Amino acid sequence: MSNNIVTSMLTNKCPRCREGKLFVSSNPYDLSDITKMNDHCPTCGQPTEIEVGFYVGTGYVSYALSVAYFVSSFVAWKVLIGMTFDLEDNRILYWLLSSIILALLLQPIFMRLSRSIWITMFVSYNKNWKNEPLAYNERMDEKMKEK
Ligand SMILES: [Zn+2]
Repeated sequence: MSNNIVTSMLTNKCPRCREGKLFVSSNPYDLSDITKMNDHCPTCGQPTEIEVGFYVGTGYVSYALSVAYFVSSFVAWKVLIGMTFDLEDNRILYWLLSSIILALLLQPIFMRLSRSIWITMFVSYNKNWKNEPLAYNERMDEKMKEK
């Protein structure tokens, strides 16, 4: 079964072949290895760090993810539990506390997802990846070209 772009991002797969794993450890809670990536996709050889400092930009993605997370947890809480802006009603406070705690617990997954989304924005899927050689990005680090 082949992955589509969404399942490929969610499962942290290489965007080029959608088969190889981006991260060394498949457990995001392996604390020493949260963002440790394979240098190259183990399946198709796509470099995971396209250029030096490539993942600096993931800050934008993780910011967007956090906003999306807080908005959706707010909506879910409002629908399922309910809240008002009444000072007597502490439910908004409970939402805030529990969503912050959950956000902290989910951080490793968010960190990986941000990288996965980020690389997917720059590397496109190639269904003929088995036959076609890697296309090199001209901004790519020289030492990666040699590999
Ligand atoms: Zn790959």
